[in-house]
This record gives sequence, structure tokens and C-alpha cells, in this order.
Amino acid sequence: NLDRVDYESASKRVEGFLEAYDNNVIVTPNAEIIMTAQKNSELAKALNNADLCLPDGIGVVLASKILGKPLVERTTGYDFMIKILSMANERSLSVFLLGGKPGIAKKAAENVKKTYEDIKIAGVHHGYFQQSDEEEVITKINNSSPDILLVAMGAPRQELFMMKNIKKLKFRVAMGVGGSLDVLSGTVSRAPVFMQRTGLEWLYRLIAQPSRYKRMGTLPVFLIEILAHRFSRKN
Ligand code: UDP
Repeated sequence: NLDRVDYESASKRVEGFLEAYDNNVIVTPNAEIIMTAQKNSELAKALNNADLCLPDGIGVVLASKILGKPLVERTTGYDFMIKILSMANERSLSVFLLGGKPGIAKKAAENVKKTYEDIKIAGVHHGYFQQSDEEEVITKINNSSPDILLVAMGAPRQELFMMKNIKKLKFRVAMGVGGSLDVLSGTVSRAPVFMQRTGLEWLYRLIAQPSRYKRMGTLPVFLIEILAHRFSRKN
């Protein structure tokens, strides 16, 4: 259930979300996550039940065009997270950063504070806790009363964490942000702007982290399945 939005209309939706502690969840599936959701019904449910579902990745936008239901534009998780941080700064809201290897969320929080002086860091926690520690993490989040919860544990863990615990957690907006805390912390760099603009960010990530090649193999499979679906519909 992807939302046909651009950055502006998506931001308007978030402005509404920020008005109350209504536990609104934002997800940003790319082709790989959508393919995982074909086999993982819990993930599919989490994505489809989110309050805002943004197409992250050129593959998803391409697929929407092939299927004759074009999405407006690719809204990357990282860029939208930055948009949310600006909104939080304007409103002096608090943000909890959950995810990444130990130390990453703390470093990311320090950098957030440098750029967005009016944001309050409600708290941070790494994303490698055991299932048995989940309640403790939830209590830590709730005790800090964050307006915004950024969950950076990769898919499907982050989507499942948000949806499974939606009734226990308290926030205005939670968003699954994948590896974005690695970028905010300065540990991983983003693709050059020309690659981002031309839809080649995936290529940069592949060169920077060759171990991702297996994961990226899902993109052509995704497009082949989309084409097969389109073709079978035509017939
Ligand atoms: N991660 C985590 N807990 C886990 C598994 C992963 O916090 O159990 C973090 C990992 O350290 C990385 C992020 O989740 O920061 C996933 O990054 P990835 O590049 O896979 O996400 P993408 O940006 O591609 O969605």
C-alpha cells in the first residue's frame, strides 16, 4: 500500500501526525523489502498497516510505471528523515534514536544536536539487543517520552519492532530508517548528489559495500516479477 506522495505532501501528512501522540508509523520500502514481504507475511502486514508508506528506491518507482499506476517520485528514507528532523527542530521536539551498532546512535545524536540545536535528544539505544531485553528497551523509550522515534535496525526487524509494539510504545511519529544512523554518525557516507539524482545510489552502495551484492540481486528479480505480472494482466 504505497502512498502516491511527493516530499511536500508527505511532509504535510507528518505535520498532522506531529499534532498528537497517536503512534503514527512511517515505513519506506524499497524493492528488496517488498520482495522480502512476499515471503514474510508479518512484514507485509507491518508495511500495509503503516500510516505512511513511502517508495524508497528507483526500482519501486519504475515498477509503478510498468504497472500503469505511476508514483509521484522516489522519497528516500534518509532524505525524509532529514525533513522530519527539520520539522522537529522548528517545533523543539524530542527524538529517540534506536538502532545501529553500539555507539552509533550516540554519535548520530551528537551530530543531530550540532545541526539542529532545538531538537531534544530523548535517548539513544543500539539495535543489537536480545529479544529478552525488548521490554527494557521499550520502557527506556517510553520513560523518555519521545515525540519522534527513529528505528534504524534494518528491514524487517525495524518494521516488526514498531508494529509488534505499537500498543506498548508512546510517540507521535516513528519511522524505520535503515542504515541512516550510520550516515548521521559519519560512519558511512552517502552517494554523490549526481548519483542520488540519477537514481544510481544503489550502484554507489554496491561499490562502497560489495558485500551487498547478494541483497541487490533482488532488484532485477523484482522487476522481472513486475513485468511478468503486467504481462499476465494484459492477457
Ligand atoms: N541493525 C541493527 N540491529 C540489527 C540489524 C541491523 O541495529 O539487528 C542496523 C545495522 O547496524 C545498520 C542498519 O540496521 O545500521 C541496517 O542497515 P542497512 O544498510 O541494511 O539498511 P538499509 O539502509 O539498506 O535499509
